[in-house]
This record gives sequence, structure tokens and C-alpha cells, in this order.
Amino acid sequence: MDKHSDILIIGGGFFGLYIGLYLSGHFRQVTICEKEADAMQRASYVNQARVHQGYHYPRSILTALRSKENFPKFVHDFNACIDRSFTKLYAIPHTFSKVSATQFQLFMSRIKAPIAPAPAALKKLFDAELIEDVFLVEEFAFDSAKLKKLMLNKIAEAKNISLKLNAKVTTVNPLQSGALKATIQTPDGEHSVLSHHVFNCTYSQLNFVPHNAGLPIIPLKHELTEMALVEVPDSIKSIGITVMCGPFFSIMPFPPRNLHTLSHVRYTPHHYWHDNPEHYMDAHAYFDSIPKQTNYSYMIRDAQRYVPLLKECAYVDSLWEVKTVLPLSEVDDSRPILFRKDAGLKNFHSLMGGKIDNVYDVTDEITIMLSGENDKG
Ligand SMILES: Cc1cc2nc3c(=O)[nH]c(=O)nc-3n(C[C@H](O)[C@H](O)[C@H](O)COP(=O)(O)OP(=O)(O)OC[C@H]3O[C@@H](n4cnc5c(N)ncnc54)[C@H](O)[C@@H]3O)c2cc1C
Repeated sequence: MDKHSDILIIGGGFFGLYIGLYLSGHFRQVTICEKEADAMQRASYVNQARVHQGYHYPRSILTALRSKENFPKFVHDFNACIDRSFTKLYAIPHTFSKVSATQFQLFMSRIKAPIAPAPAALKKLFDAELIEDVFLVEEFAFDSAKLKKLMLNKIAEAKNISLKLNAKVTTVNPLQSGALKATIQTPDGEHSVLSHHVFNCTYSQLNFVPHNAGLPIIPLKHELTEMALVEVPDSIKSIGITVMCGPFFSIMPFPPRNLHTLSHVRYTPHHYWHDNPEHYMDAHAYFDSIPKQTNYSYMIRDAQRYVPLLKECAYVDSLWEVKTVLPLSEVDDSRPILFRKDAGLKNFHSLMGGKIDNVYDVTDEITIMLSGENDKG
């Protein structure tokens, strides 16, 4: 373990790796610590893999517009990891949807997200009694296994980035010199690294180091989530379906396993909790400690009411992860980034993307922060 590094990044998920690469262009030495034995194994692998131009956010104009802006960049930068091979359908039910079909179409047209009525042959997949309308949209899936490979190749090429696996940062303390001292647990003992800036990119563990360091806790909501992995009938292998906007479901290709993920707004979150400074709970330790019992039968029973063919799905297994959102996002299902510069400690910065292509919004914030520092000389 190096004793000094200009930058220390906590977390080797997609955000930690991307930000490490970005900062390696501005600083001499960047160190990334990841507590697991491999990078990008947590939320950066266990997610529904969708990238799109705003369709999932008809109730948040800001998130929809940021998606519209970031989608082409992400698809361009990570082209080799993008699966475009499927047709993507968004369906709006007659009842319980928080938007009507007209509102959905109008919203997408206004933000200039490509949308068209689904052809009759595809509309027939849906129960006409329950579904008001179906649209053809431009949504892709990213292959998180390929994305990991690509990111690790870039990190290896960068030369001034050192990625430490099995390296858990436990706390950070300020030194009189102005440097930050991070304490890191590895299989061969405890180490410390001194750095100018620490970037906390730990998603559901965002409050772990601040809690240990006696820094303020950021209000976060965590959900224990389950996505079922299913083999879909051949006739819909190259289709992704989202029924929105309310207590409905999505079935999307999951490229690393060549299967589909099925998520359901009501049954994917098993339960939730909020970070609380009085009784802070380590989200990953909790996740590891609890038994997980699948909700698949509930998910599929409801989903097949809307798309009868789904009763032919074969369940393979489930992907489980802690999903973390900002409590305010519950109102409009938005996904803004969180960026806390000097989060209770000078040069200790906490950030969270919310969705994968938000990474550009985070690097924009970092650019603004660093240019402010340069201006001060
Ligand atoms: C069920 C689900 C579905 C989702 N669907 C989508 C989707 O369809 N599209 C989309 O864009 N986004 C989706 N997301 C969100 C997306 O997964 C996240 O925004 C993104 O992957 C977060 O990346 P990250 O690097 O911040 O987090 P992570 O990938 O979780 O990385 C954080 C890393 O920090 C490490 N770590 C934690 N604490 C420490 C420590 N103390 N020391 C060292 N390392 C530490 C962890 O081991 C982990 O590897 C979904 C998320 C979930 C859970």
C-alpha cells in the first residue's frame, strides 16, 4: 500500500473507477480502495442495466432532461458494452398509473425523446383491458461484465492509478498538515494512506466512513432489492417491456447472463430503512446477515396479468442488492446526483450517482470544484 497519494477514492464501483480515471488526468497519483475481491461487483453489476433518454422519469423533468443529455455520451463512450439488439416497449395501464398515455407521449415528445406507437403485432402482447397504450422507444441495456473489463483496462493503461482490492477504508482523520489520513483494512493488516482529497464513492455504504469518523450522516433511504433472473419465451427474447408509471414491472435483457431481469415496483423492494446517526446500520453487513426469500411468484403473477405470455417464463435465480436513493426522490421518482464537497471535513467529498450515466453530472461537479480551487491559486 502506498503511503501517499494525491487522491484517495473509496469504492471500486463504476463511479469510483470512472472518477479515478478522470482525476488521473489532473493529479500525479490516484489510489482506489475497493473492499471486495473484485471491482464493480455490487450495484454496478446488480442493476437493471437500462440506459435511455428519460422514459423512466415522466414525473421528473430534471432527471428526464439529464438522461436525454447523458444517454448519447454514455452510449458513445461505452459503445462496446451496449446491447441494442432488442425492441423496447413502454406500456401505460388504464388504472393506477401516475401518468396517462397522452401525458407520457406528450412529455417524451417535448423533451425530444424518440417515441412512436407500437406496431399492432407488439401491442397484441398486452392485455387490452388493462393497458391503455404501448409505445416503441429507444432504450438500451449495458453489459456490466463488459463494462468492468473496459474500465479495468483503462485503469491499467493509466499508469498513475493504483487499484487496491480487498482494501476496506474504515475511517478518515485530518492531520495538522492539511492532509487526510485514511485507515485501510486489508488481509495483511491495517495500513494508512495520506492524501489531499478523499472521494467517497461507496453508494449504499456512503455513511460508513463518515459514521466511523464522527462526520455528519447524509439522509439516505436503502431498500433490500430483488430482481428475478428469468428465461423468457423465445418469441419475446429480443424484447424489453416496462409497464409504468406506478406499482408495475419491467422485464429487461441482462446481457452478462444472457437472461432477462424481472423487477416489480411492489415486490422488488423487500423492505427499507433510513440511515440514522443514532443507530447507524452498515448496509452491506446487514445485507450479508439476513436470509433472502424470493418474491418471484408474486412478481410473475402480477406481470402476467398485463402480458399473458410471461406465464411461460422460467425462473433461474435472483439478483439481490441494497438500492440506495435520496429520500426526496420518493416524491417524483427522480434520480439526481448527490455531491457533497467537504462533507463535514475539508477535502472529504461524498458522491452518489443514482443511475449509471449520471457519472457525467458528477464529473461536472468535480470540474467546478477543482476550477474553484485553481482560481483561489
Ligand atoms: C436493483 C437496482 C437496479 C438499478 N437499475 C439501474 C438501471 O437500470 N440503470 C441505471 O443506470 N442504474 C440503475 N441502478 C443504479 C446503479 O446501479 C447505480 O447508480 C450505480 O451502479 C452505482 O455505482 P457506484 O459505483 O456508486 O456503486 P457500487 O457499484 O455499489 O460501488 C460502490 C463500491 O464501494 C465499495 N465499498 C463500500 N464501502 C467501502 C469501504 N469502506 N472501503 C472500500 N470499498 C468500499 C463497494 O464494495 C462497492 O464495490 C440500479 C441499482 C439497483 C440496486
